[in-house]
Amino acid sequence: MSTHESYDLVILGSGSTAFAAALHAAELGKSAVMTEFRTVGGTCANRGCLPSKNLIEAARLVYDAAHPRYPGLSPVRMPVNWAELVAQKDEIIREYRAHKYESLLDEPERIQIVSGQAKLLSDHEVEVQSPDGPRRLRGSQILIATGSQPVLPAVPGLSDVAYLTSDLLSSDDDPWGTELREQPRSLLILGGGYISLELGQMFARFGTEVTLVTRGRRILSGYEPEIAEALTEILQEEGIRILTGAQVRGVERSGEGVALSLKLHGSQQTLSAEKLLVATGRRPNTQEIGLEQVGVELDPAGAVRVDRTLRTTVPHIWAAGDVIGCETGSQMATPVGAHDGKIAAHNALSGEPPREVDHTVIPRTIFTDPQVAVVGLTDEEAVAAGISCDCNTIPLSVVPRAGAIRDTRGVIKMVLDASTRRVVGVSMLGVNAGEVIHEAAMALRFGATTDDFIDLIHVYPTMAEALKLVALSFTKDVNRLSCCAT
Ligand SMILES: Cc1cc2nc3c(=O)[nH]c(=O)nc-3n(C[C@H](O)[C@H](O)[C@H](O)COP(=O)(O)OP(=O)(O)OC[C@H]3O[C@@H](n4cnc5c(N)ncnc54)[C@H](O)[C@@H]3O)c2cc1C
Repeated sequence: MSTHESYDLVILGSGSTAFAAALHAAELGKSAVMTEFRTVGGTCANRGCLPSKNLIEAARLVYDAAHPRYPGLSPVRMPVNWAELVAQKDEIIREYRAHKYESLLDEPERIQIVSGQAKLLSDHEVEVQSPDGPRRLRGSQILIATGSQPVLPAVPGLSDVAYLTSDLLSSDDDPWGTELREQPRSLLILGGGYISLELGQMFARFGTEVTLVTRGRRILSGYEPEIAEALTEILQEEGIRILTGAQVRGVERSGEGVALSLKLHGSQQTLSAEKLLVATGRRPNTQEIGLEQVGVELDPAGAVRVDRTLRTTVPHIWAAGDVIGCETGSQMATPVGAHDGKIAAHNALSGEPPREVDHTVIPRTIFTDPQVAVVGLTDEEAVAAGISCDCNTIPLSVVPRAGAIRDTRGVIKMVLDASTRRVVGVSMLGVNAGEVIHEAAMALRFGATTDDFIDLIHVYPTMAEALKLVALSFTKDVNRLSCCAT
């Protein structure tokens, strides 16, 4: 027989969104309970951001050693031991999870967690299939923070072959059998988004033969074309095969691996590899948790519909993180979920006027080498929003630091509202772009113009000078400037 426990806030999920909400509930002196049927900490900590960035950096060390940029340094081929790399990654993740997540559960009077699959029984009641039997949690308020899962495309034969998904770096999560235990000799990747590119380059740098297949006309649809084109060239130069405009016809087992048949620019082809990685996007986890039965509506993409206070269509049920997809202009990324989880808890529990989310300034980074970092609108998005815009793109070869460290790969593009000179978007492909983008994000937040970027004294020589130079490029030839001159 299940027990019945009451909380101020019952949270479905235990990822970064859920934890941010639970912590804020505790700060407000309220009781909160999270639920989790996989590993505490969710996708980012266990199988997303952290494991991937750990191994991507190791791959960079291997690549840089084999391809020194400086005359006078000789290339070195580092032997790669995949099992040891995975073991150290798991160790890092274990420590991180213990420190950043599990240790916060040491005070059960503040935050609790119940293991097991959770489902809404009514608009105040959640049942969790815990290992000790079902438990019923009653919440005055409820937060849906169940995250997302890989999308599987309708490819004939896919269900009959073994394939990897973006969960392939799962740490301590392996009852699901998703972890990749051996480095593949060859890898076919379906999809041209950030996960395909990050993991594709990582595997290629460790020595796997990588072919990336996407149906789009280019990789990174939704990003600036200049960025996508420049990154395509860089990845191809590293030996990654990129096939765009591909229509996948089917997949089947072939010897020890897989064979993918596709139509590519009119001709039929078959590609074979030891492993197949399906990375064609992620969809919100909104199925089989009882949402529709209690009146929580979904949008056409299957995300929980919310207003700007993160309230769902049921007044005391809230949603945040990956599970709201693109609602209110949101994006699936850890800091967005954590930011919004706190706002949802505030609105649910504080009794104060509701706070609204503002998703107009979300800086993002793709951790390829060099990195892609973006904030605000692309050229196309600005035009679609009715902004009469002015755009400029410059190569990073004009940035003194890029030249000094012999790494001039990449470009930076700035999008302005032509009538006010206000900067509405920045996209950069280049060394440390993920750090540089924060200056642009702060600038967008405070409505900065190109003059603000130009007048700010930048540290010399840094990659952040790219922002000042692209702002200058609207009025000057930046190839004809002495160092730091404006
Ligand atoms: C390979 C990869 C790399 C990534 N890299 C980055 C990056 O570099 N930077 C970045 O910002 N983002 C990155 N992301 C995205 C990031 O991981 C997610 O945006 C983030 O984890 C979402 O947090 P969340 O709390 O909303 O959901 P999650 O972290 O997914 O947490 C939801 C939790 O709810 C649990 N759950 C679901 N349904 C139920 C249920 N019915 N009962 C109980 N528990 C349930 C799930 O098991 C999960 O643990 C990456 C993702 C992947 C896959």
